[in-house]
Amino acid sequence: MADEKIKSPAEQLREKLGYKPKNGGKSLSAETITAADNYCDGYKHFLDVAKTEREAVCETIAMAEKAGFVPFNGQKNLQPGDKIYYNNRGKSLILAVIGTRPITDGVTLAAAHIDSPRLDLKPVPLYEDSELAYFDTHYYGGIKKYQWTAIPLALHGTVIRRDGTSVNVNIGEQESDPVFCVTDLLPHLGNEQMKRPAGEIVRGEDLNVLIGSRPFRDDEGSDLVKLNILHLLYEKYDITESDFLSAELEIVPAFKAKDVGLDRSLIGAYGHDDRVCAYPAVTALLECTTPAYTAIAILADKEEIGSEGNTGMQSAFLRYFIDDLATVWGAEGRHVLSRSICLSADVNAALDPIYPDVMVRTNAAQVNYGVCITKYTGARGKSGTSDASAEYMGMIRKILDDNDVLWQTGELGKVDAGGGGTVAMYIANLNVDTVDLGVPVLSMHAPFELVSKIDVYMAHRALLAAMDRK
Ligand code: MN
Ligand code: MN
Repeated sequence: MADEKIKSPAEQLREKLGYKPKNGGKSLSAETITAADNYCDGYKHFLDVAKTEREAVCETIAMAEKAGFVPFNGQKNLQPGDKIYYNNRGKSLILAVIGTRPITDGVTLAAAHIDSPRLDLKPVPLYEDSELAYFDTHYYGGIKKYQWTAIPLALHGTVIRRDGTSVNVNIGEQESDPVFCVTDLLPHLGNEQMKRPAGEIVRGEDLNVLIGSRPFRDDEGSDLVKLNILHLLYEKYDITESDFLSAELEIVPAFKAKDVGLDRSLIGAYGHDDRVCAYPAVTALLECTTPAYTAIAILADKEEIGSEGNTGMQSAFLRYFIDDLATVWGAEGRHVLSRSICLSADVNAALDPIYPDVMVRTNAAQVNYGVCITKYTGARGKSGTSDASAEYMGMIRKILDDNDVLWQTGELGKVDAGGGGTVAMYIANLNVDTVDLGVPVLSMHAPFELVSKIDVYMAHRALLAAMDRK
């Protein structure tokens, strides 16, 4: 201890009285950082196999069933430690581990979303122009349209054929697969294009995906390139053009999750928002064996377009699930919800020093500073947010501190710089104490988003600590 510096009175006082978030790269032990790196290997795999909401549900059910989860059909003999799940139309999912306390003591919810911004195929997507074949798309969620040109793209989704049978489509993910692309104008001829406002450099109707250029050779006539594509699709998937009418086909970036940086401290991938919270919610639930309070992870669809529809968080499916769970013990769902807590597990913007003007540093999340608690989201004068109470914030920070979770706080940018929302308010509206907690992201909503491995691991630790609360 001889070389320990003696702290000045001001230093001691600053430590005692001040608040200063910590960079985990400095403050965490080498073992914890290694644990974070190892944890993220599993996360990277999840990113690669679960690029759409349907794939995320499939992959999560596979993980859950391996861990002993069974479908919940209202069975009445549930015991502490029992593991159940409810699959809502293959696009949203609820998983639960039954706790030792009475259900009327409330439950612990972790709610993340598994849809991400993308290009959806239109109902009649296939067309030919100038002897090139295209898919016409309608973008989904908040994107900068110009970011979706000139990058490799993959096609994922489900088609219901005329006879009612279904087929899953996945092209562009295997090494030997072809990929697709939205072309952009060469700079040489871009003078007029580059004068447009950035939101119109590439217009919504310009997001047409090039899918082929060779004609069907055995015939004369028009649209032979399109015909050739139809022929290939028929051979591979046994579908015809009208089957697109009953399909959900999504164009997503074709690249895989990659370590970013010479120090490999970051992960670059499509769809961190919000798989980076969905995966930790699932792994935390799988790790929490017999909690005191019944622990529940929700993976929701449609967050990126306002949580609408029967698979989004504005739907009654969570309420119905809680009602059915309460019924097992002869209780009322509303009495369960009123005493429950929720971590709305969604991402926040990380401070980007290239664009510091949209942030106030003291209230911005930073990469490597741990999982971020966001008391309120919304826009303008806190419009469109649930704004967590002081009491609930106090409860959560104590849980995180008691479990050595590295955490920070951050607003979604400067006042009046813009804004956004999460599923938090829809769950809070059910009379549940709710706050946002998630991972800071660089380049959010871009085809290739970045997060810190330390922050991802801390999201897992934070959600586990909440689910394990006594
Ligand atoms: Mn999100
Ligand atoms: Mn988002």
